[in-house]
Amino acid sequence: MILEVKDRTILAVVAHADDIDFGCAGSIAAFVQQGAKVYYLILTDGSKGSEDLSISDEKLVTMREEEQKNAAKVLGVQHVYFGGFTDGELVNSSEVRHLIVRYIRTLKPAVVISTDPDVLYNEEIGFINHPDHRAAGHAALDSVFPFARNARTFPDLWEQGLKSHVVHDVLLTSFNSKRANHVVDITYTFDLKIKALMEHKSQIDDVKGFRSTMEERARRIGKEINVEYAESFVHIHLSR
Ligand SMILES: [Zn+2]
Repeated sequence: MILEVKDRTILAVVAHADDIDFGCAGSIAAFVQQGAKVYYLILTDGSKGSEDLSISDEKLVTMREEEQKNAAKVLGVQHVYFGGFTDGELVNSSEVRHLIVRYIRTLKPAVVISTDPDVLYNEEIGFINHPDHRAAGHAALDSVFPFARNARTFPDLWEQGLKSHVVHDVLLTSFNSKRANHVVDITYTFDLKIKALMEHKSQIDDVKGFRSTMEERARRIGKEINVEYAESFVHIHLSR
């Protein structure tokens, strides 16, 4: 199904700084170039994202926020919001959904992007999905439907003037998902994706190996639609 993004607002809701860049930075850049306004909501503080214990949690949180803001700038993203929930402890709670619903009702996105909560593992490539990624996807889907559109949910938001909002399309990043049904050509934005990813300096030690892994992944997906590089998603179009 074609997804029109021109003049539309897109909100990406994920667990960690770098999840969007790994999953779909090439598509984000393409959507921006096609005239979309893109916002990020990063739910956790990223405080578990380093094995180097000489860096304090506070320092790591600040570093990762800066890295994410710089990466977003590379792609032309409007703004990055941070939820501040503890990294590694994200659950699909009412508190998390309240935050997501607040941003959905404030920014009024036509499209919400998140991570596929159904991906628990992929035995073919030897991969277990991070629990925060699953929790983020669950909370984002629940927020899109029913909570952002349900007038009786979160009356405090309603009192602040944040009325119901209907999101029409959801894209779930689907690397490792077996259910991808939507492929985006990122041939012309692949270099921007790498550039954005390189901003996450605390997360990448082997730059060369990293680039070739990303190339190989994007190439494999690109073959599906006969382009050089692509990213894939599960696309859910909400019919009402
Ligand atoms: Zn992550």
